[in-house]
Amino acid sequence: MPENKKVVTLAYGCQMSERDADTLSEISTQEGYTRSEDLATADLVIINTCCVRESAENKILGKIGELKRLKEKNPNLKIAVSGCMVQQPGALERLQHRAPHVDIWAGTHNLQEFGRLIQKAENDQKVAEVWEKPNMTSEATPLAEKGKLKANVNISYGCNNFCTYCIVPHVRGRERSRNPEDIINEVQLLVESGCKEVTLLGQNVNSYGQDLDINCDFADLLKKADEISGLLRIRFITSHPKDLSDKLIETIASGKHICEHIHLPLQAGSNEILKRMNRKYTREYYLSRVEKIRELLPQASLTTDLIVGFPGETEEDFQQTLDMVNRVHYSQAFTFMYSKRSGTPAAVMPDQIPLDVKKHRLQQLMNLQNDRSLEWRQTMMGKVYEVLVEGPSKSNPNRLTGRTRGNELVIFSADPSLQGSFVNVRMLETHSWTLFGEIVSSEIK
Ligand code: SAM
Ligand code: SF4
Repeated sequence: MPENKKVVTLAYGCQMSERDADTLSEISTQEGYTRSEDLATADLVIINTCCVRESAENKILGKIGELKRLKEKNPNLKIAVSGCMVQQPGALERLQHRAPHVDIWAGTHNLQEFGRLIQKAENDQKVAEVWEKPNMTSEATPLAEKGKLKANVNISYGCNNFCTYCIVPHVRGRERSRNPEDIINEVQLLVESGCKEVTLLGQNVNSYGQDLDINCDFADLLKKADEISGLLRIRFITSHPKDLSDKLIETIASGKHICEHIHLPLQAGSNEILKRMNRKYTREYYLSRVEKIRELLPQASLTTDLIVGFPGETEEDFQQTLDMVNRVHYSQAFTFMYSKRSGTPAAVMPDQIPLDVKKHRLQQLMNLQNDRSLEWRQTMMGKVYEVLVEGPSKSNPNRLTGRTRGNELVIFSADPSLQGSFVNVRMLETHSWTLFGEIVSSEIK
C-alpha cells in the first residue's frame, strides 16, 4: 500500500446513507487514508448504497460496474460496497456473483466494524459481513468528520412503521432511539469544531424516544438542542404526519434556532391508497396538521414526498393527490413512481399499475408541483431572509450560495470571505429552480 492512501466515498439515497458514508470515511481515516474526491487516484472507493427504488439500485450497479475498469488500471485499488442494498435478504450472494471485483461487502448493521474489514482487504482477502441485527453500543457513538459548517446527527435508527411499499424497516431494522445525552454530546462536539447547523435524522423523528424508558420526546430533544451555545440552526428530517404533535409545532414556533421547515411526506392524497400504504392517517387528518402548522408557523416551508402508481391507484385516487398538492402549497415535493420492492406487501398486491400510466401521472404531478413551487418562490420576492452562506455557486463560481431557514437555495454576489457566516438577503428574481438575491446586511449572528 502507498504511504499517502486516498479514500473516495460515494453515498446514494437519503441523508441517513450520507451520514453512514461519513462514518465509513472517518473510519478509513483512522486506518491511514485521506479523504479525496478524485476516483482516478483513489486507493479505496466506498459505495454506500440505497435500495428504496429499483432506479437507485440500477444506478449503483452501473457505478460498481464502472469501477471494474478502474481496478484493471490500478490492481491495488480496493472497492467496498456497503449499506441497504447489501443488507436486503438474499442480496449478498447475487451481488457477489455480479461484481466479483468488489473487495469488501458490509451491511447496515456492522459499519463500525469497517476498520477491521479494510485491514483484511489490504491483506488481499475478500470480505463479506452482513449482520442480521444492529449493535446498539456502536450506534451510540458514531464517528463524523469535524470542522464542517453543517452536519447530520442520527437521533434514531430503523423504522417501526412498515409502510407497505417500503423496504427501509427490512434493511435498517426496528426503531432504536439514541440516548438524548449521547445526541447532545455529539452536537456539542460538532459545534466546538465549527459546525453551525445540524440536521437531526430519523426515519420518523416524531416518534423519537418512544422505545426508551425516558421522559424525553422529540420536542424535548429539540428544546435541549436549541439551548446549545454556538449552534445557530437546527433542522430535522423526517416527520411522519401521524406523530406530528401540537407540542412539537409549538416547540418549533417558540424555538430560537429551530428552522421553520417541515418535511411532511404525504405519499398519496386518496384515503383508500393511504390505507393500503399503511400510513395510518387520512387526508383530513393530514390537512388538520397543515392547518395547525399554518396557524403557529405562518412562514414555515412545507415539503413532501409523493408516490404515483401505487398498486390499485385509480385515476380518481390520483386526482386526489393533485388536489392535495393544490390545497397544501408545498414549497417543494419529491415525486416518485411506485417501485416494486421484493419482500414488501405492496409487491404482491393485485392491480399493479403499468409503467406508461405511472410515467404519465408522474409528469402531470411534476408539472403541477413546478407551478406551485414557482408560486411559493414568487411570494418571497422583495422580502429579506436570513441566509447561511455555504460557498461558491456550482453554476457560477463568482457568486455564492446559501440557504434560508426554510431550506430554499439562493444565489447572490458577495465577498467569498462571507462563507460560513449569516447574512440577510433580499430576494430579487426566480427562474427554473433557483432564487437570486442581493445581500442587505452581513455577519448578522
Ligand atoms: N422515513 C421517511 C418517510 O417516512 O417518508 C423516508 C423514507 S424513504 C427513504 C424516502 C421516500 O422514498 C419515501 O417517503 C417514499 O416517498 C419513497 N419510497 C419509499 N419506498 C418506495 C417505493 N417502493 N417506490 C417509490 N417510492 C418509494
Ligand atoms: Fe419507509 Fe414508512 Fe418507515 Fe418512512 S415511515 S422509512 S416510508 S416504512
